[in-house]
Amino acid sequence: MKIINLLNNDRCTLSFEVFPPKVSSSFDEVKPAIEKIAQLKPSFMSVTYGAGGGTSRFTLDIAEDIRNRYSVPTMAHLTCVSSTRETVLEKINELKKAGIQNVMALRGDLTPEMKLSDAKHWDYSHAVDLIRELKNSGADFCIGCACYPEVHPESQHQTDDIFYLKEKVDAGCDFMTTQMFFDNNLLYNFLYKIREAGITAPVVPGIMPITRAIQLKRAIELSGSFIPQRFKAMVDRFGGDDRAMAQAGIAYATDQIIDLYANGVKHVHLYTMNKPEIARAVMNNLSSIIGK
Ligand code: FAD
Repeated sequence: MKIINLLNNDRCTLSFEVFPPKVSSSFDEVKPAIEKIAQLKPSFMSVTYGAGGGTSRFTLDIAEDIRNRYSVPTMAHLTCVSSTRETVLEKINELKKAGIQNVMALRGDLTPEMKLSDAKHWDYSHAVDLIRELKNSGADFCIGCACYPEVHPESQHQTDDIFYLKEKVDAGCDFMTTQMFFDNNLLYNFLYKIREAGITAPVVPGIMPITRAIQLKRAIELSGSFIPQRFKAMVDRFGGDDRAMAQAGIAYATDQIIDLYANGVKHVHLYTMNKPEIARAVMNNLSSIIGK
């Protein structure tokens, strides 16, 4: 099923992101966790892509497996910046052959040795190039892309970031999933600005439950997210107690999601970090709301 059809429906959805193992040897450890997450029957699941890594094949394997065994619609992520055109075309072909209908088209992070000033020598410099490649592939993919309520770290101004987001949507991207954020007002502001800029495609906010204090540091390093005072107070108070922090983190994420649904946002994507117990807890908290 194409995810855009779910997003155009008026009912609230909750979808999950999972990631493949970083090394082949961990595949058997990661798979059962992902299966437990799929058994929760989220609206759809996305499987991230390890840019340039040797385990990129797992993205497709996991996406196929979830779809075939659990009948959950899946979306495979694909990145382009550190790949040759030949490799990307090969990956697109594999997706086509496997009947994957939904692809999240991403640039991927630049490695320390990559400089944007060299981009003219690369086959792909931005996600929009991959979106165009997918559109030209002859397959009728539903295409998602990333967006950043707090601005992508490489952008100097939000206006530029939104300009390039519009370019991705105009190139054929059907919907956007956001980077994580911990203050919903940032999302509401962002939605206002992109709608003003003429971007009308659905936006699926990405929510990450922070259930361990150490995870917060990593999340901020990755996303540069603003941490509200009440979130800091929660981590200060409960960060030293694993069970208390897990409970508080799940409650915070649930509260964010309920606020989003209550304010007219219909679709939410949960960064599960491959933790079935967290995905289950959040889903249970929302069981009478999802589908409304
Ligand atoms: P782009 O859209 O290319 O944007 C990157 C920067 O370039 C932005 O500052 C943008 O404003 C600017 N820009 C865009 N187009 C142009 C243009 N034409 N000319 C000049 N500047 C331009 N990474 C992975 O490796 N694997 C994953 O599976 C993965 N999944 C993700 C899922 C989500 C929901 C999100 C939010 C991120 C994900 N990432 C993943 C991380 C992502 O790869 C990085 O954030 C990366 O740095 C940017 O990717 P992008 O697709 O947003 O790039």
